[in-house]
Amino acid sequence: MRLKVLGAYGASDAEHNLTGYLLDDWLAVDAGTLTSKLSFAQQARIQGVFITHPHADHIRDLPHLIHNRFSQQAGTLTVFASKEVMDLLAKNVFNGIVWPDFSEIISPLTNKPALQYRALTPGKRIVFNDVGLTAVNVDHQIPAAGVIVEMGGQTIVFTGDTGPTQEIWKRTNKMQNVVAIVTEASFPNDQQSLADETAHLSPQTFGEELKKITVDAPVYASHRKIPYERDIESQIRNLRDRRARVLLEKNYTL
Ligand SMILES: [Zn+2]
Ligand SMILES: [Zn+2]
Repeated sequence: MRLKVLGAYGASDAEHNLTGYLLDDWLAVDAGTLTSKLSFAQQARIQGVFITHPHADHIRDLPHLIHNRFSQQAGTLTVFASKEVMDLLAKNVFNGIVWPDFSEIISPLTNKPALQYRALTPGKRIVFNDVGLTAVNVDHQIPAAGVIVEMGGQTIVFTGDTGPTQEIWKRTNKMQNVVAIVTEASFPNDQQSLADETAHLSPQTFGEELKKITVDAPVYASHRKIPYERDIESQIRNLRDRRARVLLEKNYTL
């Protein structure tokens, strides 16, 4: 599969982008960065977006993607999230105040709504366009779920934002042909207390999470906070585990 990393940071400036990933050009995970890095034609090819949690850095481009799709001749966009996360999105974002609920509005171009919501039960695998999707709850400040994606005989795992966690690793360890795991390391080791308080990982706790993972696949640290990116990168290298990598904003072939 192809993984296009549109954003690999937990903050943004002219050279760093908020969390957003695209698999094989049609399935997105998180929407911090989608519209700002994709042409209208590329946006029209997205068929599904999985949202890990409602923090602004993971949904920034979602209202704009939906709005763009409303004005395009494209198929219905399916927005996936765990039930709890979907309820928070409906209540706090697509509430007719921050943004309209486009699932209720018929597009004049297609005579259908531009999007539909699909709330997932954590731990229950569903199939979408021949791709298996399993939402798995993680441990963040608010309801949050990562996703296990089975696509074309390969498995990739995204935790989204999380502190130390268990369930997603237990499930990952049972999966076949895991080609990559994308998790996070937001703060450097000298800010461990801030990482703990905000339910994020540092390189140190990223290293502890690695011990829970038994599959031999690269484990990428995403969501670095910009001022500390160099420190975090060198601390990830110092873990001396060949699976530990820093996620870069580039295209990966897995
Ligand atoms: Zn975040
Ligand atoms: Zn978050």
